Amino acid sequence: MKMKFILSLLFLLFSSISIAKPFALTEQEKTFIKNTPVVTVGMMPDFTPFSYYVGDEVVGFEHDLLDVISKKTGLRFEKRIDKWTSIYNAFKNKEIDIITSISYKKYREPFTIFSDAYYNIPIMIFVKDNFGEYNGLKSLSGKKVGVLKDVFYIKELENVKGINLAFYDNYDDLTKDLVFGKIDALIQNLTNINYLIKKNLYNNITLVSELSLPNTDREDLRFGIQKEKTLLKSIIQKVISSISDKEIKMLSDKWVGSIKEYPGGHINLSNTEMAYINTKSIRYCINPSGLPFEGLNEKGEHVGMSSDYYRLFEQMFSADFQLVKTNSWNQSIEYIQQKRCDMLALGMETPERKKYLNFTSHYLDVPLVLATKVNVPFINHILDLENEKIGIIRGDAFVKILREKYPSLNIVEVDDIYDGLDKVKNGNIFAYVDTLASIGYEFQNKYFGELKIAGKISEKLQLSIAVRNDDKELLNILQKAVDSITSERHRKILTKWVPIKYEENINYNFIWKVVFFSGIFIVFMTYWNRKIIKANELLKEAKKSIEEKNKELNQLAITDNLTKLFNRRKLEEIIKNEIDKNYNEKNRFCLSILDIDHFKEVNDKFGHQQGDSVLVEITKVLKENLRATDYVGRYGGEEFIIIFLGSSLEDTQKKVEDLRLKIAHYNFEKVGNKTASFGLTLSKEGDTMESVIKRADNALYKAKENGRNRLVII
Ligand code: GH3
Ligand code: MG
Ligand code: MG
Repeated sequence: MKMKFILSLLFLLFSSISIAKPFALTEQEKTFIKNTPVVTVGMMPDFTPFSYYVGDEVVGFEHDLLDVISKKTGLRFEKRIDKWTSIYNAFKNKEIDIITSISYKKYREPFTIFSDAYYNIPIMIFVKDNFGEYNGLKSLSGKKVGVLKDVFYIKELENVKGINLAFYDNYDDLTKDLVFGKIDALIQNLTNINYLIKKNLYNNITLVSELSLPNTDREDLRFGIQKEKTLLKSIIQKVISSISDKEIKMLSDKWVGSIKEYPGGHINLSNTEMAYINTKSIRYCINPSGLPFEGLNEKGEHVGMSSDYYRLFEQMFSADFQLVKTNSWNQSIEYIQQKRCDMLALGMETPERKKYLNFTSHYLDVPLVLATKVNVPFINHILDLENEKIGIIRGDAFVKILREKYPSLNIVEVDDIYDGLDKVKNGNIFAYVDTLASIGYEFQNKYFGELKIAGKISEKLQLSIAVRNDDKELLNILQKAVDSITSERHRKILTKWVPIKYEENINYNFIWKVVFFSGIFIVFMTYWNRKIIKANELLKEAKKSIEEKNKELNQLAITDNLTKLFNRRKLEEIIKNEIDKNYNEKNRFCLSILDIDHFKEVNDKFGHQQGDSVLVEITKVLKENLRATDYVGRYGGEEFIIIFLGSSLEDTQKKVEDLRLKIAHYNFEKVGNKTASFGLTLSKEGDTMESVIKRADNALYKAKENGRNRLVII
């Protein structure tokens, strides 16, 4: 404790040494201050972040700077806050002593003494993210470029060929028009645009370059002092010189900041809400396999759209969100009922859930679409499908909703999206209903060219944050967060996770396009001398992280969540690939299915969680006893498939027998001994994926019938 105290004292001492620069006033100057301590200063009301209003208080970099000057000199500033033209005229008419934010110009010299600059603002060119490549000023030719009326570089800009200038009265409109596409580019000083982007959470505009014109430099901010007030000038100049770079940096960190802090917006929380956020960590549950909406990656981290929203919320109010992991959506529902988590990241409001949950307004609206085979004509309305089977995931909130709303439809429940889409493909059902996002996501991986989106239904999946209904405070806080998200941000998160667009054209065909998100990023920069290089680095990084994300997603699509083995889909793909190879002796393969005996007892006696552990332990045994060339995956519940390539049936039989014994002798934690039954078969000419699996499954069935813990070959 003591040590810490001494250290901080030392630190203070050294930091104050490094801050303070010698500063001494002459007697004359001191007398001046004593006689005329009040100085009138003209300042702008909307020159963020230097001088601007927050509510009815005027704040900013320049106000803090004046405070520093006051402290050091004893001068008192009487501020006159008004538009630039008004304070500028007042200064010219000698109505005020000092004007702030003035740039050095030769023509101003006759009536102004300039102090040194206290800040140099770079002038930047921003474009909309779909602008295309920017190659210097010539890229602005023929484009509509917004600028502020009367800024000092206009004359020079007007000389740039082909540029089509649009003039604005204020920063807000200028920025908005770019964000909403009314202009193609804008030129503005960095600090203002920073502030506006931050304030409004805009994120679809991109910084492309600093403006460089032969006769225009960065906008230098200085104090302008009345010509005859030489003493005032020397005092101000002395203080400014005495302020160290470090102090200026502290001020600029405080007011100008960096774009890095984005996209945190400002949310007004009440005192109790603030206290809640500051003292509690918020535990939330997700659907671990609901990508692209939400899910867990290989490392068990929360990914998907809801994860981006949470990151945003965290930034917005520095709240501590903690993910409580579950194995399934149903378990998440159980957890929230048992108060093991406080909220669900994404949930659809249903009357059933309303009994124990409150919902924020929905922040993700996802259209539901119908996937069919490609040759099906456009479906205008779901009722066009009265005589057809329509698949939907079992237990989905929409099963009930659609059945009640359209009793004449033939709704068939399917296990999951793969089951649904496969059934459409195989003609078992006519159409499958799911969100555009999930179907789009699967289409990328599989089914491309075989299935299509044939129509949209009027129902929408509307997702909200669900909060336990005994926690009103949290609900209010999250509602504020949800309200503060701009539609731009929604769009951005959506396109990040659903890189597929759908469009209706006149022929009622849907065109699918894979939209690769190019670097739609606001460029983060702290040090201006490194600006463009840094931007490119960031762009590269962004691209890399997108590539990584895609890899992760691909991995997720073929892995079983619990065991991290291949999932059923991947197993089937492997088998199909093997079968597709020209049939010959060399390409034959053995396939074994194993099913744990009396597994239900494990769940019944020790609980589901322990059942899961047994599955994980079995996975370990399997992996340890198989070759690198064997494929193993989880086919379903407690069934596994092993594919043995390039070994005879005899050899494989030995291996499987060996495996059976290894399992039978394995001591499962808490559970003790467990056995498994095996079916084994060799691929034949004319086999299909289904027929090999079927044979192995029949063999397994026999093994069970004959008393379990054995291997049967068919
Ligand atoms: P049998 O010897 O006939 O195979 O008996 P069994 O009890 O294993 O019967 P069956 O194969 O019909 O039942 C499998 C059980 O496995 C049903 C289900 O409760 C359980 N199960 C399926 N998937 C999982 C899982 O992911 N985790 C856990 N813990 N249990 C699962
Ligand atoms: Mg079993
Ligand atoms: Mg089974």
